[in-house]
Amino acid sequence: MKICVVGTGYVGLVTGVCFAEKGHEVRCMDIDEERVAKLKRGESPIYEPGLGELLRANLEAGRLGFSSSMKEAIEGARLCFIAVGTPPAGDGKADLAQVLAAADEIAEHIGPECRIVVKSTVPVGTGTLLCRRIRRHLSERGLKNIDLEIISNPEFLKEGMAVRDCLHPERVVVGASSDAARSLMRELYSSFVPEEKILMMDPASAEITKYAANAMLAARISFMNEIAQLCDKVGADVLSVKEGIASDRRIGKYFLNAGCGYGGSCFPKDVEALCCIGESQGLDMTLASAVAKVNRKQKERLHMMMRARFGSDMEGVCAAVMGLAFKPGTDDMREAPSLTLIRGLVNDGAKVRAYDPVAEGAARRLLPASVRFAGNLRELLEGADCAVVVTEWPEFGEIDWEAAGAAMRRKIVFDGRNLCDPEKMKALGFEYYCIGRNMLP
Ligand code: NAD
Repeated sequence: MKICVVGTGYVGLVTGVCFAEKGHEVRCMDIDEERVAKLKRGESPIYEPGLGELLRANLEAGRLGFSSSMKEAIEGARLCFIAVGTPPAGDGKADLAQVLAAADEIAEHIGPECRIVVKSTVPVGTGTLLCRRIRRHLSERGLKNIDLEIISNPEFLKEGMAVRDCLHPERVVVGASSDAARSLMRELYSSFVPEEKILMMDPASAEITKYAANAMLAARISFMNEIAQLCDKVGADVLSVKEGIASDRRIGKYFLNAGCGYGGSCFPKDVEALCCIGESQGLDMTLASAVAKVNRKQKERLHMMMRARFGSDMEGVCAAVMGLAFKPGTDDMREAPSLTLIRGLVNDGAKVRAYDPVAEGAARRLLPASVRFAGNLRELLEGADCAVVVTEWPEFGEIDWEAAGAAMRRKIVFDGRNLCDPEKMKALGFEYYCIGRNMLP
């Protein structure tokens, strides 16, 4: 099937590459010409395990192409996916500017045989809004009788595992109104998942499903972060509590780790946007608002713990920040807890040194100029007054703390991801602080 994908970010690029991998003829379009040039050379502009190899293989096989021209990319396509960004607007709502711009451009060049699919995360009713908007354009082009339907197909991939998730999704959600659209989407996804995993519903339900999924996952994290605060107050251990509740099948074990808050390009903005969608319907979205509120506070937790240890004047304190990306496996820095922490430390006068296996490039653009970057863990910890674990990269779990402690000026660790064994750290002579385990300064 000939497919056009608009937007080559984490979602658009991975989706386009995976459709090509399944044998479809894919043209990806982006307004960022530098990005397109890079992609044409087979270079991935983002870090995502396995993506580079698949990108190059499908380029070479001639199934995948990139363009900054919509006319070129959409020509002959049967499906056109919109996968552009929907960042938060100042008021928390999803900013639809990229989606509307993409839709306008699509309307200029779309042919009668093509259906539009929205993969971007968008508020309920966006499909209807786009339909009206595109129909207006089409009627200006004299194409009044075109069969226009906007299909909703929200994406659930996880950064860091995006290729695997895209090739082997747990489910595919499709919001469509006509049999023709449903059968086209079934045809596309039949090589990805068995039929029963393609969940057909109306477009509004599909749009809400995406927000509900992210808000539910975010709620589990915020809930455990709140429980962790309580554990710290009463001398309990949040890891034992987690084990105690996760063994209940109704609860399960995923997304129950207390830590220094969730970040990323999705949870923070989607929870806020869900609140706005509810409020626009006269609901006060008590629970979703609380999830966001708990998280905003949790992102300040490490900084507050460090203040409790060093005071609010951190002149002369050299903090070694372990991990910058919002989670392991990605270079995505959007809303990363490391940003809140480092900005706070720099404001308090601390000297900040940071290391991340892949996110340094993205982080440099967002962090204060005074932040120094280390090329590896040894360089990071050399002479530091404290180590601060922010992202749980697997290599941080294997660190030789004895050697690290010998290289540090002071043996102090703030563990924002509960990565270390407190007993071992104490035995090695560390002052060790973590989240919800009754180990606070
Ligand atoms: P992104 O910001 O990484 O990428 C967006 C891309 O779209 C950029 O390359 C940009 O240049 C391009 N673009 C912007 N306007 C355009 C236009 N008018 N025409 C063509 N290209 C245009 O975004 P992302 O992280 O890939 O997210 C895309 C959407 O998918 C968002 O709605 C997001 O909420 C949703 N989503 C993201 C993830 C994730 O893990 N990142 C997961 C599921 C869903």
